[in-house]
Amino acid sequence: MKIDILTLFPEMMEAALKTSIIGRAEENGLLSINCVQIRDFAFNKHRQVDDYPYGGGQGMVMQAEPIFQAYKSVTEGLDYKPKTIYMSPQGKTFRQSMAKRLAREKHIVLLCGHYEGVDQRILDEIVDMEISIGDFVLTGGEIAAMAVVDATARMIPGVLASEVAFSEESHFDGLLEFPQYTRPAEWHGACVPEVLQSGNHKLIEEWKRRSAIENTFKKRRGMLSRARLSKKEREFVEDLKQKER
Ligand code: SAM
Repeated sequence: MKIDILTLFPEMMEAALKTSIIGRAEENGLLSINCVQIRDFAFNKHRQVDDYPYGGGQGMVMQAEPIFQAYKSVTEGLDYKPKTIYMSPQGKTFRQSMAKRLAREKHIVLLCGHYEGVDQRILDEIVDMEISIGDFVLTGGEIAAMAVVDATARMIPGVLASEVAFSEESHFDGLLEFPQYTRPAEWHGACVPEVLQSGNHKLIEEWKRRSAIENTFKKRRGMLSRARLSKKEREFVEDLKQKER
């Protein structure tokens, strides 16, 4: 998978994305991340890429042309249009299901805005979708883009050691994950649940599933109405509700 990121702060992105699991995936040829400095495509001697908003108002707006040229630099000669995404607080809220879908694309381009945002005309011309990472406003799209790249990259087959690594995780299947423990078996008087030390895989799998449901019930109850639960598991949820009363 190829990911091009159009940004005014490529060094910030590179530092974060060239390390750890994502960096290793790139070294292993599972994905390639390319950060493009929009300022390199400025058409004035001060390399300015923003200007005052028409109609007045606070702040500056990123101009269409430098972004267009940066976009052209990564798309020229392609016989397809890469999925082009504008990071924006006005976009669709990013979710695990979106990360799974994006991981199936062969090429995505992420546009990071700054200042008051971006001239609407470039969005109309190149952007296929807008993604928000939550209902709050960041100073720039870089942190949001890093979150999208990280969550998407780990869904690419081969990036994590095995599919189990993410298929049991929170949000993959509509539930939060079960609590995790590591050595020592006793710490500050608190013990790891015995079943996890039993070596009985069937019982361990049952514990994990029940604990995931219980965890979701405690922390994000609303998710349970959409989760795929068996009749027995629904009864378990009802028991949890009864216990609360
Ligand atoms: N004036 C814009 C508005 O009210 O919609 C906000 C501009 S914001 C200060 C600057 C840039 O940060 C945006 O162009 C966008 O790329 C990015 N950004 C801010 N909040 C974001 C969020 N929640 N998710 C994704 N990107 C965000």
